[in-house]
Amino acid sequence: MKYIKHIINKVDPNSLRVRLTIVIAALSAMGLGSLAIWTTWRVQHILIDSHKQTLKELTQRLPKDVQVYNDMYPLQKSLEKSVKNLTTSNTLLWIKNQNKQILVKSDSFQQASEPIQNKLINLTQMPVAPQVHKIHQSYFILCSNPLNIKGKLVGELSVAHDITREQTMFVEMVQNLSVASILVIIVISGAIAFYISRALQPLRQLSHMTEVISAEDLGKAQLYFKNAPSEVKELAQTCNQMLMRLSESWEKERQFVSNISHELRTPLTIVHGYLQSVLRRRKNLTETQTEALQTATLEAENTIQMLGDLLNLARADSGNLHYKMQPCVLNDLVVEVVAMANQNSDRQIDIQAEANPIEVKLDYQYMKQILLNLIDNAVKYSDDGTPITVILKQQETQAIMQVCDRGYGIPLQQQSRIFERFYRVDEARNRAGGTGLGLSIVKTLVEGMGGNITVRSKLAEGSVFQVVFPIFLSEV
Ligand code: ADP
Repeated sequence: MKYIKHIINKVDPNSLRVRLTIVIAALSAMGLGSLAIWTTWRVQHILIDSHKQTLKELTQRLPKDVQVYNDMYPLQKSLEKSVKNLTTSNTLLWIKNQNKQILVKSDSFQQASEPIQNKLINLTQMPVAPQVHKIHQSYFILCSNPLNIKGKLVGELSVAHDITREQTMFVEMVQNLSVASILVIIVISGAIAFYISRALQPLRQLSHMTEVISAEDLGKAQLYFKNAPSEVKELAQTCNQMLMRLSESWEKERQFVSNISHELRTPLTIVHGYLQSVLRRRKNLTETQTEALQTATLEAENTIQMLGDLLNLARADSGNLHYKMQPCVLNDLVVEVVAMANQNSDRQIDIQAEANPIEVKLDYQYMKQILLNLIDNAVKYSDDGTPITVILKQQETQAIMQVCDRGYGIPLQQQSRIFERFYRVDEARNRAGGTGLGLSIVKTLVEGMGGNITVRSKLAEGSVFQVVFPIFLSEV
């Protein structure tokens, strides 16, 4: 039961496979159903028609026989003899006079049960043309005709032919035919569902392949199907062309960002330099002018930082970011970075590091940038007065570095997105300023040096950013 429910839940009524299967199954049900109905109707007709003819001949012959006998015998005896002659085991014959009294009835009546005999004889409306009637679980073809002898109406001749055996066989045949049709429909539907599913397999493959293609491997991605139908092959070809165009424009965009960052950074650094030198000699400046210059310097600094990040990301994308990998003791690095961070803010930053030196192979400068960025975020996204802790420990062959704050936290559904470029959780909350590039560059650098970064966070309780690197094992 559970299994059937599971299958029903998995069936998508909008899928091409389900729709095609339903349509084809419905069409084959209609086709087979019509064929079964037509066959049934034809067989019934053939069955009845053959008996109808016999009954017709019988009702025509009896008056002639009676006339022949009547030349030798009285009418009653002639009737009896003629009825006896024409009676067969399955045919019941009886003649009533005009007062509806039985004049003669065939011997075959004795074979029929009493209720059937009574019902037949007392039938008020006997059909003139032969018709099938059901009487107490038995089937008869009945007909009745006026009996005229030498032009004089003697009474009414009635004939009943027992077709119970044929009719039962016929009903059985119809039942078997129905069961066989249902089975055939089920088998056809199953076969069609299987065939359609196989025919659509390349499309599913196509959607899976396009799903896993990332921006980085756009240029190398190629869809290819060996045994797919030509329509799907054509689609794959078109997709390949589109991937190629996407790759080209992605490359152009990367190049553009890289160029523009590079071109803007130099003049902006000069502007920043001038602003700082003017600020240093601010004797002749009013307070408003000093404030304006300070804001301009800060904005220029932020923009230079952002351009630097963009340049680094573009370099990493194109594989041109080079890491000077060398063994470094993380304990020293943490102390150095925390000291640097303390210069920029008066927040309390605690270090919880294991006493033994933890050595890791990485680019020292980039690692400093990573840790500084994480501490900077912890300061930005927590209230003044709340402490920040940097934890450094070793677990088996891994060095683990955590930056913990008791700040605003990040909603669960956004935790996986904060590493995307320019993604910021809530602009209103981010009063502290920023570009949304910090964490994406941190992730790029961490992964570029063979580590990985994760976040655990709870709203209003704080966040823990964890960076993991493999321990450097020197060859002795
Ligand atoms: P930004 O320049 O905005 O700081 P980041 O890439 O460094 O850009 O961070 C992306 C977003 O992640 C931030 O805008 C902030 O909303 C969220 N975030 C980063 N670090 C923390 C943290 N320690 N606590 C809460 N939110 C954070």
